[in-house]
Amino acid sequence: MKKHNFYAGPSILTQQTIRNTADAIINFADMGLSILEISHRSKQFQAVIDEASALVKELLNVPDGYSVLWLGGGASMQFCMVPFNLLARKAAYLETGTWASNAIKEARLFGEVEVLASSKDANFSYYPKDYVVPADVDYFHITTNNTIYGTELRVDPDVPVRMVADMSSDIFSRPVDVSKYDLIYAGAQKNLAPAGVTLVIVRDEACGHVDRPIPTMLDYRTHIKKGSMFNTPPVLPIFSALQTLRVYKDMGGVAELEKIDLAKAALLYKAIDESKMFVGTVTDPADRSIMNVCFVMTPEFKELEGAFVDFCAERGIVGIKGHRSVGGFRASLYNALPLESVEVLVQAMHDFEKMH
Ligand SMILES: *Cc1c(COP(=O)(O)O)cnc(C)c1O
Repeated sequence: MKKHNFYAGPSILTQQTIRNTADAIINFADMGLSILEISHRSKQFQAVIDEASALVKELLNVPDGYSVLWLGGGASMQFCMVPFNLLARKAAYLETGTWASNAIKEARLFGEVEVLASSKDANFSYYPKDYVVPADVDYFHITTNNTIYGTELRVDPDVPVRMVADMSSDIFSRPVDVSKYDLIYAGAQKNLAPAGVTLVIVRDEACGHVDRPIPTMLDYRTHIKKGSMFNTPPVLPIFSALQTLRVYKDMGGVAELEKIDLAKAALLYKAIDESKMFVGTVTDPADRSIMNVCFVMTPEFKELEGAFVDFCAERGIVGIKGHRSVGGFRASLYNALPLESVEVLVQAMHDFEKMH
């Protein structure tokens, strides 16, 4: 049976990504060897990382003066690397979900942290709008898409200080004005590649303004200088990322991807809004994520939530169970998920509602 993969992360990858990765594990670049058993310093792998970095720059229109890095440690490592490298005295954060809270916790190890706004009191069901970014902080940190709660900020704010963004779960889903950011990071396993690599786009000039000693591996300047080859980078996820980036380019780039993503999300939100059984958890429609759609059953039908998950499984729909901190359902509509899968889910919602 065809599967419809709505997992939140690790999550669906393009068929080309999976197939080409499988091929490279057997025979990479016609070397007669697996990509798993060759030097990362071979010219064949150097070509992979160079093309991947160039495609990131092309797709996101990255200006001069920025470096594209491929690092280990997950997005969670960036929660400490960012303040280690950029927080001299004080930073400002928005608390918009679990990942943002984790980032704030790490930043506090390095200096003063001002939480400008938080939606925690409402279980992160909206994206805060009433806040002013002070001019005296070293940087302002946002999480553009809150994977667990399904809220998203789809604009690039104008602020008077350096801006840092965790774009782990919505990178490549819209054009981004990279020039407004000093650093963008994204764990690969939501919209790019298998887990194991984190994409970092950093303005070179933003580094080097703190006095503390930074361990070599945690210093962005090490990886900028060595082109992410100071040590062995996550070779296989980088290869997979390149396959995905090629698909994104072939599809017409991020502006085209955004159109498709918007259409997929609109279809599902419409089904939720028209239903008497399902209800969205994000309060303001303007804050709704187009990547992670969170919804629950109304109190009247609440006890049927488990039955709906089973009903969906019979139709090949997997990964829609909501995160335990929200409950209900979360359908992740990452770039690689075809519109057809959303149609199958919407049909299942209609059919289930009719049955009850
Ligand atoms: C998944 C996720 C993370 C954590 O990523 P890891 O690579 O597992 O550390 C951080 N931020 C956001 C927004 C995420 O979606």
